[in-house]
Amino acid sequence: MGRQNVASGQQENLDVLVSTQTVIQEALEKLGYPEPVYELLKEPLRLLTVRIPIKMDDGSVQVFTGYRAQHNDAVGPTKGGVRFHPDVTESEVKALSIWMSLKCGIVDLPYGGGKGGIICDPRKMSFGELERLSRGYVRAISQLVGPTKDVPAPDVFTNSQIMAWMMDEYSRIREFDSPGFITGKPIVLGGSRGRDTATAKGVTIMIEEAAKKRGFDIQGARVVVQGFGNAGSYLAKFMHDMGAKVIGISDALGALHDPNGLDIEYLLEKRDSFGTVTNLFQNTISNQELLELDCDILVPAAVENQITRENADRIRASAVVEAANGPTTLEATKILHDRGILIVPDVLASAGGVTVSYFEWVQNNQGFYWTEEEVETRLRDIMVQGFANVYNTAQANGVDMRLAAYMVGVRKMAEASRFRGWV
Ligand code: GLU
Repeated sequence: MGRQNVASGQQENLDVLVSTQTVIQEALEKLGYPEPVYELLKEPLRLLTVRIPIKMDDGSVQVFTGYRAQHNDAVGPTKGGVRFHPDVTESEVKALSIWMSLKCGIVDLPYGGGKGGIICDPRKMSFGELERLSRGYVRAISQLVGPTKDVPAPDVFTNSQIMAWMMDEYSRIREFDSPGFITGKPIVLGGSRGRDTATAKGVTIMIEEAAKKRGFDIQGARVVVQGFGNAGSYLAKFMHDMGAKVIGISDALGALHDPNGLDIEYLLEKRDSFGTVTNLFQNTISNQELLELDCDILVPAAVENQITRENADRIRASAVVEAANGPTTLEATKILHDRGILIVPDVLASAGGVTVSYFEWVQNNQGFYWTEEEVETRLRDIMVQGFANVYNTAQANGVDMRLAAYMVGVRKMAEASRFRGWV
């Protein structure tokens, strides 16, 4: 996949697997690891492709394709969400599993990375069809996953209800209650307090750290959030509650802009379960226009490849904090970095979700549950430490924050693989 640049005739690489491999290689070189370490880490150790036949409500049968990738389990069980989306591809799932390894390395969790996906459009499926698909997926991957092997979680267009069905199916297959098989569950089924808001809380903490470095106040800061799903919508609310002015938000259909600040409470009330809200308004702008708004903090919280070399010159934020996975291309990263814009990269900024998933798994293993305050305090400590490690690595090595994050993230995995005698 590539984007034609008319001026140079060169394509910008938009393949997220190729870009993540490029940065992994650079990070390993900087750290002085030999070539076999790159060979080991450039692809997942395992990738399972499954075909899932589902009886649809109209009596027809539809066969869905799903994946589960396990990047590296040297540190511990693999961990990462399951995405339900029409654009899921094998290559994307692989890249997403590598990103999960990096996230777990950066915030120092005892996991490697995993990721799953099913090619489907849940916006067009009934509750019953989604339940059958969720259960069918677990039956298809059950040999490969488990509380001490590979622990799924929510991702794009999956939620706590889907996690509940998956957990129930897995417990039936194993014939014992297995809450630690999956995280992001409803609280009554062993979910953790604070898991639903964890990604957004983590991003908020990253914005606070970025604000300290850049010397601006959150109070009164102008924030633009692309995407109004789990991460984007809660983040808009937290920013609003902290006195920032959320001047732009968007969903898959369009974007809203108000230089005086949007009524976030109202938008949260009106959004549907897939984060769609702009269809209720007439004066919308495009997602591209939203990204180019004059603001202090820009938070891409939607999908991949949103900031590319085509628009990186026109980004007017002082910091870009990536709540989505892979929203900025490598060429755009370089342009933003050279322009002095601080990037808090996805593998750091969005690690709050998996951090509280880890807390959920720990609580399930112990059968002992924490208060929301305990979750929040521990999340804050971990995220602040992660930011400091990445920021200091960037400063010490004179590299951008993305490369620094990869250097921090890849090290533990490489060391664990070495001690195990794999490389
Ligand atoms: N899907 C989330 C992510 O991309 C969370 C994964 C998890 O909680 O395991 O980080």
